[in-house]
Amino acid sequence: MLPYDAVVIGAGAAGLFCAGIAGQRGARVLLIDHAPKVAEKIRISGGGRCNFTNRDAGPANFLSDNPHFCRSALARYTPQDFIALVQRHRIAWHEKHKGQLFCDESAEDLIAMLLRECEQGNVTHWQPCAVQAVRQAGTGFELDTDRGLVRTARVVVATGGLPVPKIGATDFGLRLARQFGLRTTDTRPALVPLTFDAAAWAPFVPLAGLSLPVGIRSGDGEFLEDLLFTHRGLSGPAVLQVSSFWHPGQPIDVDLAPGADLGATLKAAKGSSRRKVANELPQHLPARLAEAWLTRHPELAERPIADTRDKDLLQLAASLQAWSLTPSGTEGYKKAEVMAGGVDTRELSSQTMESRKVPGLYFIGEVVDVTGWLGGYNFQWAWASAAACGRALGTAPDA
Ligand SMILES: Cc1cc2nc3c(=O)[nH]c(=O)nc-3n(C[C@H](O)[C@H](O)[C@H](O)COP(=O)(O)OP(=O)(O)OC[C@H]3O[C@@H](n4cnc5c(N)ncnc54)[C@H](O)[C@@H]3O)c2cc1C
Repeated sequence: MLPYDAVVIGAGAAGLFCAGIAGQRGARVLLIDHAPKVAEKIRISGGGRCNFTNRDAGPANFLSDNPHFCRSALARYTPQDFIALVQRHRIAWHEKHKGQLFCDESAEDLIAMLLRECEQGNVTHWQPCAVQAVRQAGTGFELDTDRGLVRTARVVVATGGLPVPKIGATDFGLRLARQFGLRTTDTRPALVPLTFDAAAWAPFVPLAGLSLPVGIRSGDGEFLEDLLFTHRGLSGPAVLQVSSFWHPGQPIDVDLAPGADLGATLKAAKGSSRRKVANELPQHLPARLAEAWLTRHPELAERPIADTRDKDLLQLAASLQAWSLTPSGTEGYKKAEVMAGGVDTRELSSQTMESRKVPGLYFIGEVVDVTGWLGGYNFQWAWASAAACGRALGTAPDA
């Protein structure tokens, strides 16, 4: 008999959760991670409080080449299921914004919860321990690891995505998929700040640090969130969200005064205001933004608004409410919160996450081509895909 029913590679969100579920259902599980510390991404997420799910998470909140793939797992392990687990472990939590749930105290509470769940499943945990190679052997697999050769019936790849290499992210999962003949889709940094050519960005550098609510759109992504100006470009939730939909060469469109009709407001001010345009605009926008914007329209700034042509006011308003700009790039995997793309979901069973080509080989979490919006969705995918796989690995009947 093989010593393990399953080896889970990667003790992050998905790997820990999957190992615990499979172990509690009777599987003999070995969990391996090469990093010195378990679940570093949970630890640093949500400013140390981990935005662990989104109350309203559903398939519409995820990007994938195959958008229906995530439906089954998300339906079978819901945010409410994870909330119930968090409550069973007496971890206090709160809702912050748009359904985003955070720990009251610390992300460490969640890590401790996941480790307790693994203990309850008698999971063997080797960390730090690198895996050098995985190959098929007989009806199962063999792994070369720092602690020697391991034989197992099944292998779960939960090695995450490429963001933040300095805390252990690698392309191991993608390489393993290709080694076994599974297709991968193109990968790119997502939930990431956008950057611009230094010369094009120079007029906006004085705005670094300014944050304001905006409407933003790129490709199929459209959001109403806060935008943050930085020295190199744009960040903040609005830009992180839209970055997942952005492709090089495409513009992003920004409405810097969402919900307002700035053109009509400025035209109406002509009848009642004796101010110059430079003094009128800050009545309707953050003053720093108005000031920086008018340096790009010096001919208007000093003109009394009453003497300014409607056409010029409408153009000024349009430049603010239909601001179209083309990023030169992103801040890359050093700053990205997730990787878009990954193991092609057409290669996997949506019920169990098992490879269709290589029975016994599973992929879960971020390494799979399912990418959530900002706001707890990526952890919900980690839990849901891990639950689908963990239940399939467990020998006990499905609850
Ligand atoms: C700064 C930051 C903040 C975030 N905040 C949030 C948030 O608040 N809410 C949210 O939903 N999402 C958030 N995310 C995204 C979320 O952290 C990930 O989507 C999630 O952790 C993915 O889970 P995973 O288990 O697939 O991968 P990970 O949690 O990244 O775990 C992968 C594990 O595999 C290990 N590993 C990698 N390569 C190997 C190898 N070769 N051998 C052995 N082990 C290996 C790694 O050490 C790691 O422990 C954030 C991400 C970042 C970077």
